[in-house]
Amino acid sequence: MAARTRALETILVGKGLVDPAAVDALIETYETRVGPRNGARVVAKAWMDPSFAQWLRSDATAAIASLGYSGRQGEHMRALFNGDGVHNLVVCTLCSCYPWSVLGLPPVWYKSPPYRSRAVIDPRRVLGEFGVVLPAETRIEVWDSTAELRYLVIPQRPPNTDDLDEEQLAALVTRDSMIGTGFPRARP
Ligand code: FE
Repeated sequence: MAARTRALETILVGKGLVDPAAVDALIETYETRVGPRNGARVVAKAWMDPSFAQWLRSDATAAIASLGYSGRQGEHMRALFNGDGVHNLVVCTLCSCYPWSVLGLPPVWYKSPPYRSRAVIDPRRVLGEFGVVLPAETRIEVWDSTAELRYLVIPQRPPNTDDLDEEQLAALVTRDSMIGTGFPRARP
């Protein structure tokens, strides 16, 4: 796949259809500036600030854009709040739609056919394989992303974190906890 991609890039550059500097800028952006740290900041702010959490519930696209995170693959966002008795899990059954603006590029497993089918058929077992074991009475809600709508899970705030500031809270937020396949870290 890497060789085919390089060959394709060579042809496109040779024909003048692609500017190599533009390709480098895009890759640099998604490698260093856009990634799950953006989403972690959204989650930490939601934990700290009830009015921001409310804004996320009512208009996640605008609330997230207020922190400067918008653009490709994040044009229409919805925030899914985990709570006592409900756990949210995000998948794209059709392909690999993912909220790039807050999580960066999707992990390989997110794009794999087994995850995409099994997350819907047997979410509890899939979560167990990720180490997410939920009480039997917890309802699991599975959300199928589309090109039009991307989801960000807002996990529950870990216990005993009342004294942490926003940056310390953000450090506890993992990528997987914002997809629903993980929990935030416990405080160190
Ligand atoms: Fe997709």
